[in-house]
Amino acid sequence: MDTPCPPASLYDLSFAQMQARLAADGLKPVHATSLWKLLYARLEPRPEAVEELAPPLKRWLAKHWGATYGGHNAEVCERIESSDRQTRKMLLRLSDGQIIETVVMGYPGRFTACLSTQAGCAMGCVFCATGQMGFVRNLRAGEILAQILEAQRLLRADGNFLRNLVLMGMGEPFQNYDAVMQALSAATHSPGFCLGPAHISVSTVGVVPGIVRFTEERQPYSLGISLHASSDQERSALLPVNQRWPLSELIKACKYYAARSGRRVFFGWTLIHGRNDSLESAARLVELLKGLDAHVNLIRLNATAGFEGVSTAAAAADAFRAAVQAGGLPCTIRQYRGIDVAAGCGQLRAERLPRQSPAKALPA
Ligand code: SF4
Repeated sequence: MDTPCPPASLYDLSFAQMQARLAADGLKPVHATSLWKLLYARLEPRPEAVEELAPPLKRWLAKHWGATYGGHNAEVCERIESSDRQTRKMLLRLSDGQIIETVVMGYPGRFTACLSTQAGCAMGCVFCATGQMGFVRNLRAGEILAQILEAQRLLRADGNFLRNLVLMGMGEPFQNYDAVMQALSAATHSPGFCLGPAHISVSTVGVVPGIVRFTEERQPYSLGISLHASSDQERSALLPVNQRWPLSELIKACKYYAARSGRRVFFGWTLIHGRNDSLESAARLVELLKGLDAHVNLIRLNATAGFEGVSTAAAAADAFRAAVQAGGLPCTIRQYRGIDVAAGCGQLRAERLPRQSPAKALPA
């Protein structure tokens, strides 16, 4: 988007770009593999200090990257955890001072990191702390990867490892498409993080051209849609993006994705008392997704200071789920996670820092 990115770091390079740059300086392909391993398998914060590093590689790092390739890409400035230790949130400071959030969640037998893709967000979803703070800039691929690095370091310290990624932290992934796909390609590269594409989910609020591109490029990741409403009137009141790409266009794009990929589409629905939690909404949802291989994940609203809505009561959430399931649509209620660490998207950052800039207009 319009705000210039800070200087590139070594982490912004894809494996192929790293190989090409090394080759241009007369280094061998094996040097790219060993450097990649140091960065993303051993998680070395200072690869140039590793004793066994080949001297030509040491010289190359010093010559081309100086201090910008290492910890200066992004550093953890705060880390907090929920009382049950199952949700941990990190604030990362980027090289230009922007602060982003990454959340690490533990489930039986697996850990998931929720990543940010932008500093702030222009989408303006009314119940979201990030939407309330406005848009600053896109993250670079290396800044998205830095979040995986720090999540992996955090887990490795306890003898655990990261298995899943969800891209539903700060920002709209399809508004930063190229950097997101480059970061995911690096995250699945072997050797390195070696994450399975099937364990990665990209979640959009409904940027239809992004869904179409994602489909046509046959990206191997799961698609999630933050739906939250089943009529245009209800949805536009919660998500301004719906005025640009209404439900008919969004569902058409989802059907295109499902038909081309053969995969299920996951729909997220934040339950807000009196806004989108009626049984009529549930019935419309069933109608809307008819014929689509879909799964609906419900979550009760995590309240934010800038939105007056309140969470649906547990019993009403159960009734909503039952109505959806009765219509033949798979539906689950996700656990209320990490309330004591402000685990909702952008909440901790909003608590720690002032609002940045007004939300900008959606793209034409
Ligand atoms: S919910 Fe996602 S897309 Fe909407 S404002 Fe928040 S970060 Fe942006």
